[in-house]
Amino acid sequence: SIRKIYMITPTKRRAEQIADLTRLAQTLYLIPNLVWIVIEDESQLTRRIHRLLQSFHLPFIHLNIATPDYLKPTQNQSTWRRPRGMIQKNIGLQWIRQNTNSNDDALIYFADDDNTYHWKLFQEIRKIQSVGVWPVGLVGELLYERPICLNGKVHSWFHYMYRKRKFPTDMAGFAIHLRLIHQYSNYIFNVSANSIAEQESQILNTMTTIDQLECLANNASKIYVWHTKTQSMFLTSIEKLRNAGMNYDL
Ligand code: UDP
Ligand code: MN
Repeated sequence: SIRKIYMITPTKRRAEQIADLTRLAQTLYLIPNLVWIVIEDESQLTRRIHRLLQSFHLPFIHLNIATPDYLKPTQNQSTWRRPRGMIQKNIGLQWIRQNTNSNDDALIYFADDDNTYHWKLFQEIRKIQSVGVWPVGLVGELLYERPICLNGKVHSWFHYMYRKRKFPTDMAGFAIHLRLIHQYSNYIFNVSANSIAEQESQILNTMTTIDQLECLANNASKIYVWHTKTQSMFLTSIEKLRNAGMNYDL
């Protein structure tokens, strides 16, 4: 039988949110046996996202947690200076630990709501025994970052930004077997870390080693996921207010 994937997606309120989630859902129609864990960055579940998720007729789990103000970027700070969607990913990990058994065979993937995913990525994820890695397109000021692999093992990394990272991969560039999520049952992302781009290295350094990594996507020669970003819509001032309220229906 086809191996199960739990996909953790934090999602933040913005004008483009429903469009991005819809595009991601259309990809998921191509993927069997996947449970989509969507964690809203809200103090309460919203009805508009719940209705949207129901409208897809895909298996989903709908959770929420608001990012506290002290973790948000200050007004003159760029958003990339702060970890984004990490507290939500921790809620996803908690749900998984509470609702699966440590000997279940399943894979965990962190999938942001605005990236672009080829259906073949999920075939690659299902090959993982412990932790798999692969290239990510359009990230780190490069056309792609990738592990450089020899005979299925990581030899080094092709990357440019933040060169001190031990595992210089984006969140979209790896997936982890459920067994490890249970084995390291206390592991949560350090949400208050000021260290930029360290979250991936922290979880991988906790749960695996470089020589245990499995190179996927044809020895990391194929790009099946892109770190795309949806451009923020320029809104009139009245629309900005309406968008901040978000109390309109679909
Ligand atoms: N996100 C969130 N709360 C935030 C910022 C981001 O839940 O305060 C979510 C967002 O919807 C996305 C993920 O976290 O699914 C990563 O955010 P973003 O795409 O803005 O980050 P980047 O692509 O710049 O790394
Ligand atoms: Mn993004």
